[in-house]
Amino acid sequence: MPDRPDSLDTLLDANRRWAADMESRKPGFFTRLARQQSPRYMWIGCADSRVPANEITGLDPGEVFVHRNVANVVVHSDLNALSTIQFAVEHLKVEHIMVVGHYGCAGVRAAMRGLRVGLADNWLRHVQDVRLRHRKRIEHLPPAQQEDVLCEMNVIEQVGNVALSTVMQDAWSRGQKVSIHGWVYGLKDGLLKDLGVTMQGPGEVVEVFARALKRYPRAAAAALAAADEDDDPGHGAP
Ligand SMILES: [Zn+2]
Repeated sequence: MPDRPDSLDTLLDANRRWAADMESRKPGFFTRLARQQSPRYMWIGCADSRVPANEITGLDPGEVFVHRNVANVVVHSDLNALSTIQFAVEHLKVEHIMVVGHYGCAGVRAAMRGLRVGLADNWLRHVQDVRLRHRKRIEHLPPAQQEDVLCEMNVIEQVGNVALSTVMQDAWSRGQKVSIHGWVYGLKDGLLKDLGVTMQGPGEVVEVFARALKRYPRAAAAALAAADEDDDPGHGAP
């Protein structure tokens, strides 16, 4: 049998040390986990290697159920994402679903700039749709800010998509307590930011969405707000 590449030996060695360390810190950890998982959280995030759900939230194996894809998109016809959400909600009874984007997302950047990257172009069409839908809130901003805002707006849209899925609508109609949250992660500082779009029931979706959009004014409204800040009292916009 050929030798394994050195790099994989390194990973397997690290895994043995990690497993031994976990077991010494929490005796019986793996035996308990092997019997059952009961995570309270579901994470829907980007596939980007720099945004690992467990590490950045300090959670151990068994504590967060994870679904990741390019640019953390939840599409109503994506049976992969919907099946994962259904399993998390109906079988694992998670209490919180976090949709987590991140600044500097290559998928969002490609969608923002109209770059062609290959097959993923079709997937990123969903993010381009977000950009087109909200272009008047985005296009008047400086380029670097446009990408950050699209990262946030993409999260907000996907929170809405999760909320409007049959899985969540059914869960809420059963009276199940499960909330959906929108977060964005900073690659430069390692910090998560709550976008304040938590939805806890079907009646909140439209209101939360509308309130969130107000934080991203269209060009004219942004100019008026800036004038309001700059002007002396009495000279502000109506
Ligand atoms: Zn990304």
